[in-house]
Amino acid sequence: MYKHLLSLFICLFAVLFTNAQKPKAPSSSEIYESIQKLNFLGSVLYVAAHPDDENTRLIAYMSNQIKARTAYLSLTRGDGGQNLIGPEIRELLGVIRTQELLAARRVDGGEQLFTRANDFGYSKHPDETLQIWDKDQVLSDVVLAIRQFKPDIIINRFDEKRAGKTHGHHTTSAILSIEAFDLANNENAYPIQLNKTELWQPKRLFYNTSSWRYGGQEAFDKVDKSNMITFDIGTYYPTKGLSNNELADLARSQHLCQGFGRLSQRGSDDEYIDFLKGEPLNGSNNIFEGIDTSWNRVNGGEAIGTILNTIEDNFNFKNPSTHVPQLVEAYKLLQRIDNQHWKTQKTKELKAIIEMCAGLYLEASAETNWATQNETIKLNLEVLNRSDLPIVLESLNNASNLNISKGITLKNNVKYNFSEVVKIPNNAEPSTPYWLNEKGSLGMYKVDDTNLIGKPETPRVYNIDFNVLINNTPITFTKPVIQRFAKPDKGELYRPFEIIPEVSAKITEKVIILNNDQQRDITVVVKSGRDNLEGDVEVCHPNNWSILPKKQKVTIANKGEEQILTFTVIPPKEQSEGFIGPIVHIGDKSYTKELIAIDYDHIPFQTVLLPSESKIVRLDIKKRGNNIAYIQGAGDVVPESLEQIGYNVRIISPDDITEETLSNFDAVVVGIRAYNTVEDLNFKQQLLFDFVANGGNMVVQYNTSHRVKVDQIAPYSLNLSRDRVTDEQAKVNFLNPNHEVLNSPNKITQNDFEGWTQERGLYFPDSWDKAFTPILSMSDKGESAKPGSLLVAQHGKGYYIYTGLSFFREFPAGVSGAYRLFANILSLGKEDIKQPVKLND
Ligand SMILES: [Zn+2]
Repeated sequence: MYKHLLSLFICLFAVLFTNAQKPKAPSSSEIYESIQKLNFLGSVLYVAAHPDDENTRLIAYMSNQIKARTAYLSLTRGDGGQNLIGPEIRELLGVIRTQELLAARRVDGGEQLFTRANDFGYSKHPDETLQIWDKDQVLSDVVLAIRQFKPDIIINRFDEKRAGKTHGHHTTSAILSIEAFDLANNENAYPIQLNKTELWQPKRLFYNTSSWRYGGQEAFDKVDKSNMITFDIGTYYPTKGLSNNELADLARSQHLCQGFGRLSQRGSDDEYIDFLKGEPLNGSNNIFEGIDTSWNRVNGGEAIGTILNTIEDNFNFKNPSTHVPQLVEAYKLLQRIDNQHWKTQKTKELKAIIEMCAGLYLEASAETNWATQNETIKLNLEVLNRSDLPIVLESLNNASNLNISKGITLKNNVKYNFSEVVKIPNNAEPSTPYWLNEKGSLGMYKVDDTNLIGKPETPRVYNIDFNVLINNTPITFTKPVIQRFAKPDKGELYRPFEIIPEVSAKITEKVIILNNDQQRDITVVVKSGRDNLEGDVEVCHPNNWSILPKKQKVTIANKGEEQILTFTVIPPKEQSEGFIGPIVHIGDKSYTKELIAIDYDHIPFQTVLLPSESKIVRLDIKKRGNNIAYIQGAGDVVPESLEQIGYNVRIISPDDITEETLSNFDAVVVGIRAYNTVEDLNFKQQLLFDFVANGGNMVVQYNTSHRVKVDQIAPYSLNLSRDRVTDEQAKVNFLNPNHEVLNSPNKITQNDFEGWTQERGLYFPDSWDKAFTPILSMSDKGESAKPGSLLVAQHGKGYYIYTGLSFFREFPAGVSGAYRLFANILSLGKEDIKQPVKLND
């Protein structure tokens, strides 16, 4: 039994996680569930700010128990967070999180919507959030989502009254949802949207309250819940063999880049919603009270409902194809109703059900997963009718140049395979996330094509229409071209078919730091999207820099191959920074983008085109000391960054920390959150403090104030707090302007605090022993000064430095002031520069 269960479990995970592209092969139970949903005409929109904010328990319940069409509107795509599964950050992380949300919705049955708001990082207050987001645009997008999705019920994840007590994006999502609830039905609000959609008044707005809102389960247990609506989200679905909460946890476990893989829960459990706005409920627990959610809701729907309800009541689990003739009748009636919204939505659902009931298999598979404009590719088409129904494949076509008549009667379970050679049109747009096409601002994506606003991803451009006759009724099934292939060690795999540019290029280093005026080589990688590519490459650069040679030839014989070119960068004499980027000229066309592939098992393969640019910095920097030991914490690129400015850096593990090893180094730097993540450091702290007492420097970067795994972070008392300064432009005051760390070997000025990114720092200590000297003070708007961002203590012959400043963010962004200040920290108490000593690896 156990073995059997285990294999079932593995199967389920295999379906959910390892082949995100494989077309669904629905069972009778799933078809039956789709018919139940088809017969429910009502919808719910869940609103929050980020990927992972959504309560999958409630979304799964609305979609699977109530059968409502359910969507999650996430204002952002989560660019601002950290990635626990790979190197992608910022916009590429947003692409992964978008796909993780879509993967979660494939599990919990919801749909996914977005606005153009960009997750710019932590925000303390909605006022600040709305200064960085363009409030009018984000509100307009929420209104548009309501007008297009037409929800009867809206549920907010967050409380609009908790400004300042949670992430500003969270409170803002609730504030905007409440405003949009009225504006969606106001013809003076965003009237331009009414050219392509209609006014809409949702019936009710709720807030999805929780123990978290009341400060814990104990407090929440005491709250009067008589006015709340309760759902038992642990309900069991025999047709799935899963409980609602299990399904919700499987959905939530799709957020892998946030580390949300989790155990699933079963059994009765409650969720609560509080009424906020709209028509009050008359004492019932039915959030759709007063809304006819049957087919009678639409003009002409009654006859359709009669057919479809009969099918639902008498569903033939053994042979669903027996229902196809009646489904086709309902389909014909549906085409005659005048309500465009329901017609479009229900036609989509009904067509899918007809296809599933008939056991139709329609696939267009390309021999490669990418091609360029004008390229000729071979498509393999597979058509299979697995029913006794008389189905005729009339023709195949696509939007551009494919149009083939077939007129084949598809016999039961006889497979028809044919291949076609097709040319990708010369105007086919490259496949890339539409919201990254143009450079946006800190708070907003720029989307020129207004038809795309709100869509979760760029619609597939290369599709095949299969035109069939079922019971003499023409129905078109549109399938995106995919690539189906097998790997001996993985089995059958599916990938989306992508259109890519004929050439892309990148500079291998994203940030290039030169700490003197010596010239340096950089590497440009040119990748060809087609055979026989010929052109030339130049690297554009700021005026006071030179890059030689001016141009180089590129010749690539085969599609997919790369050519590596070396250019020499000559920096100016003085401190300077800017951007450089390759331009590839092919004939009269120029290409400036790089192609990035994102490949994880739990989401479909993604190709992303981004402007190819690297930051280049000529630093005016002096330093003392050379050999740095780095103790990794949660992971950061500080070691590579210190190497860029000429330090010898060796990464050491807790086991390497001995008196003898440490004696090789001038300083030890402790990576971000090391004391939260590396338990063994507790046994090594005294050795590190002794190293300081003997003349070494020890620099500790931020740790969170909770879950500290060492007894003593510093040789003197130090209390970590949650103090943070999120405004990266917050004014910095020098508390001790004459301190060595601000003067030697580099004179630190206000200029060094310009151009910082995302934040100043986080988890600053709020009290400390008098052995520490606070160096800087800063604060966010309206808050008290925070003097704990950089604390220096002399300990014996060396220095211990604790800093919550976000060096780990500033270094990869090439912020010169951060490098200069860090060089001073490492140089504290050091004399002349020692000769570099080659370390034993
Ligand atoms: Zn959030």
